Amino acid sequence: MADRKLQVALYWGAACGGCDVAVLDTDAFILDLAAAADLRFWPIAVDGKYDDVEAMADGELDLAIFNGAVRNTENQHVAELLRRKAKLLVAFGSCAHLGGIPGLANAASRDEIFHRAYLANPSLEEGNVVLPVTEKKVASGTLEIPKLYRRVHKLDDVVPVDYYVAGCPPAPEQVKAVLKAVISGKLPARGSVVGCSERAVCDDCKRRKEEKKVKRFYRPWQVLQDPERCLLEQGIVCAGSVTRSGCGVRCPNSGMPCRGCYGPTAGVRDQGAKFISAIASIVDSRDPDEIASILGQIPDVMGYAYRFGLPAATIPGTARSL
Ligand code: SF4
Repeated sequence: MADRKLQVALYWGAACGGCDVAVLDTDAFILDLAAAADLRFWPIAVDGKYDDVEAMADGELDLAIFNGAVRNTENQHVAELLRRKAKLLVAFGSCAHLGGIPGLANAASRDEIFHRAYLANPSLEEGNVVLPVTEKKVASGTLEIPKLYRRVHKLDDVVPVDYYVAGCPPAPEQVKAVLKAVISGKLPARGSVVGCSERAVCDDCKRRKEEKKVKRFYRPWQVLQDPERCLLEQGIVCAGSVTRSGCGVRCPNSGMPCRGCYGPTAGVRDQGAKFISAIASIVDSRDPDEIASILGQIPDVMGYAYRFGLPAATIPGTARSL
């Protein structure tokens, strides 16, 4: 360990907060982190202002951990600020790594999102329409609200990133791996997805694999599953074959299919395209009508294929959002 404490910042962009909880989920290791590091900025846990970060010298932070996607001008401002102030910038969790669940918003235009949220939301009180503005004059001055971008971006769309930590949220072992690497100074090659392997989730999954020929797809609650057998062979759509391992096969081990949050396996450019190809290859029919009917049993194919990585896809959204 270095002879001085590491200077660390954590930040959330467009995210749910699960990644911050994942850091706390490291249990007693959090005490090692507290002993090794000064947490200089962590909005969810300690008070701190952007001005405090701006006052730091460039490179003063050893490590900035950014979770969440880049959805608005504020997210991009902080991403650029932390990139300047930190020697190492880590894209932490699916949203920073690949766009994550917020990235599914790229299936709609900004106008459609605003319409749904502020005009057509079933929970709105009738006649109580308040549309957000990016600037508002009040007695004490002018309030500025971040501008929503046309689409969601992953972190390395806006700033160079040194390391990636996969997962929604990352497993505690991955969190420890990145923090231990920085604390010990034993850093992997730049650009690595830290704490993961090059294998697929299927390679680590202990479920029995027989023959993948599917005539009927199910959602997990629609079928009584064989707890020992591969879920995909039972018609439960599982993304294990196209997803990087490192999570400990947490979902299939719990009876739930892999949804792909660790991103594509090494060498795969587009996880969703690979997923569609994998699903197409197991359909047990040669009749075009029957094939269409079998595939039609999968609701929201794009949501399955790109659940965690639409902004990282070859086409990172629908035409309406680009
Ligand atoms: Fe396990 Fe899913 Fe792969 Fe089947 S498809 S082996 S259930 S990870």
